[in-house]
Order: sequence, then structure tokens, then C-alpha cells
Amino acid sequence: MQVNKYERAAQQESVLPGGYGMNQEELKKRLKGCEKVLIGLGEEWKLLPEQSDERREQISRAYQALYDLIKDKDYFIITMATDAKIYDTSLGSSLELAEISDQEEQIVLSCQGADEEMLARLDRVFPKKEVHRDSRRERIVAPCGNETWRQCSLACTKDIWEPGEIPDDICPHCGAPLTGNTMKAQVYIEEGYLPQWERYTRWLAGTLNRETMILELGAGFGSPGIIRFPFEKTAYLNQKAFFCRVHRKFPQIIEELAGRSAGILQDSVEWMAAYCLQGICEQ
Ligand SMILES: [Zn+2]
Repeated sequence: MQVNKYERAAQQESVLPGGYGMNQEELKKRLKGCEKVLIGLGEEWKLLPEQSDERREQISRAYQALYDLIKDKDYFIITMATDAKIYDTSLGSSLELAEISDQEEQIVLSCQGADEEMLARLDRVFPKKEVHRDSRRERIVAPCGNETWRQCSLACTKDIWEPGEIPDDICPHCGAPLTGNTMKAQVYIEEGYLPQWERYTRWLAGTLNRETMILELGAGFGSPGIIRFPFEKTAYLNQKAFFCRVHRKFPQIIEELAGRSAGILQDSVEWMAAYCLQGICEQ
């Protein structure tokens, strides 16, 4: 089997190529100075049945710390966790609105080239006070799925049900047992996350050439095509991006990102939860 250059770099016990560590003060400073924040939560954030209460508690604290760090920023989160835990945190609020950056707001509110009559007509169709703003929940995409949502195990239908919606957990169409709407399903009904995925790709397109902080937390080589590789590409293409990778084993960074990256060898949940200990978390 061929080992790709990322894995080879990760196996070398050398100084992180192109990367350097970053302390908490520096992270806060960088977050303050950027316009957009892209966050990837990888395998390290998954809640597993065998995990200790201590780890669960740590994951909760990490979510709270992340919320406190980014709540006033224009951010988007892509998570590989399928436990839906994030939706029970402040980050998953469907009532609180996420920030949008000024420039975007202007694009929404102005319409270059339209005459007065056209503007009046637009106002009737899209009243200004109803400019759509995302809730925090709409700033999360979970492409690996959501265990609490149910789908037909035989995928006879693209229907997806909310928890408890089908009390007997049997498909009302074909009688097969229901299963979690995740990548683990024999046939994964991707419709569960696709609307959010579209929102994510639109948001991501808006980060190009904007000061963007990319925080990749705990994404290893399990499914690197979801976060790890695309994040590197995003960082590479956007010269104004700063890339921060935290991972307990693989914080190495490709040389192309030298000078605008940080690689931190630490469990990313532990790393993020530590911000809570520093007293910035609202209890
Ligand atoms: Zn069915």
C-alpha cells in the first residue's frame, strides 16, 4: 500500500514541517483579527459508549469553550461526530442567530443596477426586515450523519424521521427496522445533511480572499476527505487564511502552508476544554 506524503510526514518524528505551536493568547488574538472562522471537528470529538464520564464532561466543556471563542464571529462548523451532541450545546441553538460579516450584509441589502421601480418591487417580494439570517444550528453541517435521526435500514424511502417520531422504530413504508441516519447505515440517505452541505459550500465560497481562521480540531486519517484534505486545500487557496491544526497524533502541516499555520500536538478536545479552565467560559 502506498503511503501518501501526509502520512509519511506524520510518521516522521521531526519538527512540524512549516508549522509551529500557538498559545491561547495568540489564538484569541488571531480570532479577533479575522473575518471568518472555519471549524472542523474530527474523530476526536466523537462521543463513544465506552468513554468515561470524565471524557464526556471534557467534550461538553470543549463545546462551551468553542462557543465562547467564536460566538461573535461569522463561522461555520463541519463535524464528523454523528452523536448530535453539538445540537444540545449553545452552538446548536435554533433561536440564537449567527453573525454575518458586514460585507455580506451589504450585498444582501443593496442591489446594484436596479432602478427605483425595481427596488420597490424587490422590497415587496423580499421585505428588508426579513433578510434571512442563519441560526447557530444552521451553521453546522454533519456530513457523516446524525444517529438520533432515523431512516429505513433498507432505504426504501428517502424519508428521515426525528427522534421518537416513529415510536415502534419500524419503517411505515416497508416494515424494515429503522436505523440511524449515518454513514454506518447500509445505504446512507444523504438527504439528511445535504441542505446544510449546500449552505456550507455557499458560506465557504464567501471566505475566499477574506481573512479566515481555519481551526481543524482532531481530524486524522480516518476519513481525511471530509475535513483534513479539503481544509488544507482551502488554506492553500486562500492566501489570507491562517491554518491551525490540533491533533493528538498528527498535527503535521504541509510545507506549502509554512508561515501561516500552527500545528499543535495535543488532543483537540483537551486543548479546547482548557480554555474553559482559564475562566473564559460562561457557566
Ligand atoms: Zn422501508
